[in-house]
Amino acid sequence: MFDIETVRADFPVLNQQIYGRQLIYLDNAATSQKPLAVISKIKEVYSLYNSNIHRSTSKLAAICTEEYERARNTVREFINAKYTHEIVFTSGTTAGINMIAFSFGEKFVNKGDEIVVCESEHHSNIVPWQLMCNRKGAVLKVLPFDDSGELRLDLLDELLTERTRLLCVAQASNVLGTVNPLDKIVEKTHSKGVYVLVDGAQGIQHLKTDVRLADIDFYVFSGHKAYGPTGTGVLYGKESLLEQLPPWQGGGDMVKNVSFAKTTYAELPLKFEAGTSNYTGAIALAEALNYLSNKGLDDIHSYERDLTDYALKNIAQIPEITIYGTSKQKVGIASFLVGGAHHSDMGEILDKMGIAVRTGRLCADPAIHHYGITGVIRASWTFYNTKNEIDKLCEGIEKAKKMLN
Ligand code: PLP
Repeated sequence: MFDIETVRADFPVLNQQIYGRQLIYLDNAATSQKPLAVISKIKEVYSLYNSNIHRSTSKLAAICTEEYERARNTVREFINAKYTHEIVFTSGTTAGINMIAFSFGEKFVNKGDEIVVCESEHHSNIVPWQLMCNRKGAVLKVLPFDDSGELRLDLLDELLTERTRLLCVAQASNVLGTVNPLDKIVEKTHSKGVYVLVDGAQGIQHLKTDVRLADIDFYVFSGHKAYGPTGTGVLYGKESLLEQLPPWQGGGDMVKNVSFAKTTYAELPLKFEAGTSNYTGAIALAEALNYLSNKGLDDIHSYERDLTDYALKNIAQIPEITIYGTSKQKVGIASFLVGGAHHSDMGEILDKMGIAVRTGRLCADPAIHHYGITGVIRASWTFYNTKNEIDKLCEGIEKAKKMLN
């Protein structure tokens, strides 16, 4: 049974006062809080069996390596990948996308080829492709969204040409909250012989994710937005594709043999895990996914859907508010402006009320510029937030608006 008080007790950071007010943490899209299970796991690794994985012969190294590889399997199960070697541990979404931008670019992209990204993407899913296109002489094309925040899928047909190599799309937008229709996008894109990379940074923690069912070619996410530690992340790639890609970084653990004449690379996934990886983080990330599974993903998702309906309905009723992103399918994100109030002023006032939100351009300039504005206030909630906190947010916004007027 999903009991909100028990859930909240699992997240110690929530239980504190900020400027003398109970903290209301509504900045989950920037980073999520960590349950005790994850915090304890980090302590467990460093207290009991910390030792460098895949290298040393000690008992400790064997335990640590086993935990790390078990973590890989936990991720595999969580996203329903076919093989554990399709799971590469990274330092986050940004690292995963940069890795594919480099390796996929080297293997599959030539001068004049095209990459498609969406107008609503985070900079992490734009800039690596710009860098790659510059390097390879390729062309970056953009799939726009409409004012409600939905991708213009009607334009996809003409955007995908025989020169398109890859389409990059977020599972959910970090500005608009829109859940993008991956099934339709993948089907259309694959029908043109084009691969798909999905940025799951705002999806994995809120939506059931099955990379095989969705037939996604590459999927990336960050641990820290999914209740795991910072500096952790996952890149999933289909075996058939990862096998063909050259390594991104060189170093220890990613090689079979090294000589000055010829170096051979390790098998998947180690080919993509150069250097000492953040094994403690990966082990604790798996603990975060276990935490979600143990709480019950269906219960978590239905609690979040109910909270999102409640939040969007109530926030929309605030006089003079404009919400950016009003599509039907949304994760728990509301980006908005109120009256003439500047986003950073409002963010500061809310902070003084103990309400943590994010303001500004949200690392997604094109999405913000779409509306001709300079920034927004973003409230983002998850399964440990409550309707009462949403009420406090709405009251806070109204109060801040009066102060700023
Ligand atoms: N993609 C999306 C949609 C995001 O929201 C974010 C972070 O906000 C990122 C990518 C980048 O994630 P990270 O900074 O964890 O690499």
